[in-house]
Amino acid sequence: MQNQTVAFSKDSSNLFFHILTKCNLSCSHCYINREQHGDRTLDIDTIRDWLGLFASKAYQTNLVLLGGEPTLHPDLHLAVKEARRLHFKSITIDTNGYLFHNILEKITPEEIDFLSFSLDGATQSTNDAIRGGGSYDAVLAGIQKAREKGFSCSMIYTVSDRNIHELDLMPALVQTLGINRFFIQVIGMRGESSASAQPDQVAPEQNLQVPQTLQVSKDSWLKIIPKVAEKIASQGIIVTYPTVFLSTKEVFQCAGNVAKNFFVFPNGRVYQCPICEDFPLHSHEIRNNCLVPSPRINETDLFKLTIPEGCVMNKMIQPGNLSYRADGIPHHKIACCMLKQELIP
Ligand code: SF4
Ligand code: SF4
Repeated sequence: MQNQTVAFSKDSSNLFFHILTKCNLSCSHCYINREQHGDRTLDIDTIRDWLGLFASKAYQTNLVLLGGEPTLHPDLHLAVKEARRLHFKSITIDTNGYLFHNILEKITPEEIDFLSFSLDGATQSTNDAIRGGGSYDAVLAGIQKAREKGFSCSMIYTVSDRNIHELDLMPALVQTLGINRFFIQVIGMRGESSASAQPDQVAPEQNLQVPQTLQVSKDSWLKIIPKVAEKIASQGIIVTYPTVFLSTKEVFQCAGNVAKNFFVFPNGRVYQCPICEDFPLHSHEIRNNCLVPSPRINETDLFKLTIPEGCVMNKMIQPGNLSYRADGIPHHKIACCMLKQELIP
């Protein structure tokens, strides 16, 4: 088994295209922010135009179509066909499992690389407490239907304090379901210092971003995640999870400087950093179907800053996951949230 850090590269890029923000669920950790990104559903002509903005590099771009819930879009299948026509390197649809508009009847397994299902608990009670009643059954039924039709399925498990205890049960479940790839995400990390932080020491944005009650401690993360990842990978499934912590000696890199990631929202905002998305810090915007730089100051100004704690945005919005020695040096750096470990069986 290979355990590698996925190096940042400008030779390939990732395009996360939110074609709408509407959703049938209201998960407790949902990061969709309609105040910042609007409630527009892009029509298919606009989707085609916006995909076209990235077409010259399509062959080296992994496209993820997402929402809200992208299958609520009646023309999602046409967006997939357009992306295929433009020769995107890979095409993934992220879904909550409800698979609206008979999407599986309108696309073929050859047209997309993965259908990626979100599940946030190994049991119905844990998942549904986070994602809403009925969502566990919908995901399991959706995966079964997709597998029967020959689609490759991946799964995203967003770890929080409310479901980390069930990760141990996931190896058996993913095997039963026939999942091909497993992604672990983290909702927010709590460092040693936050337990003792006084309310006035915590930036208000921190609570907006990730409620502290959902955050996972560094110890639980390091104790549980790598072990579960290895167990799932030993079953022949590729597992990806965020690196999160770097020792003070490890090299820190901000993906905004050394990789190409674009997070496109229906109001035309284009971000390069996912944790900037709650703020009007987007580096580009789509105006009259042209991709243009946004006025400064924007996220690109933050990417250039070098601090001993690693990620600047993390320090601003989640200072509670940093901790310091008596001499003021941080115990660890926080890696870019885009930096991943990949376990290849
Ligand atoms: S399914 Fe996704 S978009 Fe919908 S509420 Fe849940 S996290 Fe948000
Ligand atoms: S998460 Fe931090 S390190 Fe990564 S792109 Fe954003 S600002 Fe840069």
